[in-house]
Amino acid sequence: MTALSASNRTTAEWKKIDSAHHLHPFTDFKGLTDEGGARLIVRAEGPYLYDSEGTKILDGMAGLWCVNVGYGRKELAEAAYAQMQELPYYNTFFKTTTMPATELARQLVELTPEGLNHAFFAGSGSEANDTVIRMVRRYWALEGQPQRQVIIGRRNGYHGSTLAALSLGGMSAMHTQSGILPGFAHIEPPHWFQLGYHEDPDAFGVKAAGWLEDKIQEVGPDSVAAFIAEPIQGAGGLVYPPATYWAEIQRVCHKYGILLIVDEVICGFGRTGNWFGSQTFDIKPDLMPLAKGMSSGYQPIAAVMVGDRVADTLISKGGEFFHGYTYSGHPVACAVALENIRILRDEGIVDRVRTDTGPYFQKRLRELADHPIVGEVRGIGMIAGIELIRDKARHEFFDDVGKVGTIARDHSFANGLIMRAVYDTLVLSPPLILTHDHIDELVEKVRLVLDKTAHDTGVTG
Ligand code: PMP
Repeated sequence: MTALSASNRTTAEWKKIDSAHHLHPFTDFKGLTDEGGARLIVRAEGPYLYDSEGTKILDGMAGLWCVNVGYGRKELAEAAYAQMQELPYYNTFFKTTTMPATELARQLVELTPEGLNHAFFAGSGSEANDTVIRMVRRYWALEGQPQRQVIIGRRNGYHGSTLAALSLGGMSAMHTQSGILPGFAHIEPPHWFQLGYHEDPDAFGVKAAGWLEDKIQEVGPDSVAAFIAEPIQGAGGLVYPPATYWAEIQRVCHKYGILLIVDEVICGFGRTGNWFGSQTFDIKPDLMPLAKGMSSGYQPIAAVMVGDRVADTLISKGGEFFHGYTYSGHPVACAVALENIRILRDEGIVDRVRTDTGPYFQKRLRELADHPIVGEVRGIGMIAGIELIRDKARHEFFDDVGKVGTIARDHSFANGLIMRAVYDTLVLSPPLILTHDHIDELVEKVRLVLDKTAHDTGVTG
């Protein structure tokens, strides 16, 4: 077997072929070609990526918020290899299972908050959220309330790219492009810096949770099935909830008897310093979609953790649930996820994020809050957002939202750091294995990016 990297194609040739034949996700197809094509990543080790020209890049995004244990973990490759030799594939339909799928379900039940005692497997976060929608509607139908169809999500919430998942999410550009399925409604996220800056954060948290109650009243309490949110809104701009938010959200859900879905696709598997964001914010979900960090991205795999309230109904009254994917419980993906969980646990990675590297990362990043172009630094553990602002004293944002974020993102790439921009918020979600030295290196790069961006935009403070 010869690795493709051993081929003697030049970078230019790879780029040309890619531009000719490959349509990339979330990409302006023509724009990418006009800019000279895609960057070619050829290998990675620890928190570093290497492109085809030998440039070393610090991955401040852990791929797409997923490579929690970092790159180059041979144990994960070995787990895949061993499983592929023994049993490369079998499905979990038709009264069949495999050892990796069964064992992974058991371990996920052990790791997740109390009361989530069943796992349904999928291949991606989007598929997990489609599963969630089908389970929620099935639950209410079995409970004799089939009219409860509406699931309330949040503006800028992201739950995936399938038609159902994008309807659940609140990304207006996606809604405009594809339309949105019936049965979904959205409220504002608890974005204190943008929506509540002049208010006490705790009071604002209660107010923002109140928007859920307002929406339930507007839709009609008997029509609402569930509420979905990420513990910390990720792809929609790193919205960190005020301390009062989640308790109040849970109070409202209980009051109206609606199901609470907590999308842990980003926050799961140690990102916030606990195994799950639900533990960090003391949330008790009825349904919990997982993906990304579950295998540290080494294999595509996702799951929906199902709480007893829903599981009891689906199991005792449901009959056959007409839903599933060819790769639900894929044995190789499950074997890799099991090994990934072992690494996170046995190497104390989650604990270290909570007690050591997470607090250090947050402290160092907050030193940047004094920078003239920085409005706010927010986050916990190994997830953070840096919101850029035109005039700090007057709390004035940039007019052309997203433009300055893109300038900063481009400076970041040019200086060997992958950092993402969501509108004008810079987002970091690095591998959980960063050392203090890595964090120092990352923060210095971010400072340089901020200086260059301030210079380009004329922000002097
Ligand atoms: N939920 C959340 C919170 C996500 O961030 C994402 C992906 N960024 C998804 C769901 C969708 O996952 P996938 O891309 O694996 O379908």
